[in-house]
Amino acid sequence: MVAFEVAVNARRLPDAERAAVLTSPPGFGQVFTDHMVTLRWSRERGWHDGRLEPYGPFTLAPATSVFHYGQAIFEGMKAYRQDGGSIALFRPGANAERFNRSARRLAMPELPVDTFVEAIESLVARDRDWVPEGWGRSLYLRPFMIATQPGLGFTQPSSDYLFCVIASPVAPYFGPAGPRALTVWLCADYVRAAPGGTGAAKAAGNYAAAFVASRQAADEGCDQVVWLDAAEHAWVEEMGGMNLFFVYGGERPRLVTPALTGALLPGVTRDSLLTLARGLGMTAEEGRVSADQWRADCASGALTEVFACGTAAVVAPVGEVRGRTGGWRVGDGRPGPVTRRLHHALLSIQYGRKPDPFDWVHKVC
Ligand SMILES: *Cc1c(COP(=O)(O)O)cnc(C)c1O
Repeated sequence: MVAFEVAVNARRLPDAERAAVLTSPPGFGQVFTDHMVTLRWSRERGWHDGRLEPYGPFTLAPATSVFHYGQAIFEGMKAYRQDGGSIALFRPGANAERFNRSARRLAMPELPVDTFVEAIESLVARDRDWVPEGWGRSLYLRPFMIATQPGLGFTQPSSDYLFCVIASPVAPYFGPAGPRALTVWLCADYVRAAPGGTGAAKAAGNYAAAFVASRQAADEGCDQVVWLDAAEHAWVEEMGGMNLFFVYGGERPRLVTPALTGALLPGVTRDSLLTLARGLGMTAEEGRVSADQWRADCASGALTEVFACGTAAVVAPVGEVRGRTGGWRVGDGRPGPVTRRLHHALLSIQYGRKPDPFDWVHKVC
């Protein structure tokens, strides 16, 4: 097990300033806590030089491999302040395991799950005063790894890596009024991921390649991009950085989420909602939904709600779809009852207000 050497930040943000930030965080991931965790890997030494140290800049040579070949992966998770003041993580082991799957795909070293979780716990415990209070507020954690070998040779992966965790207090993604329904753009001109590619990895480059489509979506008056499969441009994969659920409402709602084909990111939220929905007596399955089916099922009224889900925004209803061949509304265009119920059920577990039958909540301090 790696030990983290502690260097306390002597220039911590004063209490009053921190309190002001926690009351109204200035946008997602804009302010960071007093500390960060760093850990290095080299071919000779393996993981070494673990530190919990003041948050601050890195110095890297211009020839550092990550700047040229993009070997970079990340994770996204949250620490929640529960009623009574204790702080908990949500399924941190699932993030640790996904981090290692991403690492394998990018030919980067794996980090023992215990070390990953310990790094997160150390940072959260040290900066516990930064975990905001209140439903929907949390401390967003961003573990990431970059290739740090200097040199432009590119026939082999980097020989050196830096793992780091930073943390940022966040307010509810959609503001105090709760999630509003999003308008999404069906992307026909670009592809996020292809079979055999990096779509299932949380690779930084996936995001770099997606920005052009986000900009197109914004130009079309949409909030987010919905990605279709690379081969046929027919099957719905996911939305921006979130997975999608299709809800066929009624007495006993039926939920369908696109199956993990290797081209989409296996979300922890997606997995948790599949389980929660079944626990609430709904049918929840993985399957295939085409854009044409989406439109037809909205027209017939069978498909009553669509929502996206992910750690950052939790649950985001989709109210309207637009594409090159026109658009349509989902249900009445507003957040639906199944979406709201699942959102509430998940938050209730994360904030410790409901029992945790699946052992998802991981107390830190
Ligand atoms: C992180 C991510 C998700 C959501 O995963 P969660 O574990 O639920 O946060 C979905 N799609 C993409 C592309 C992502 O990067």
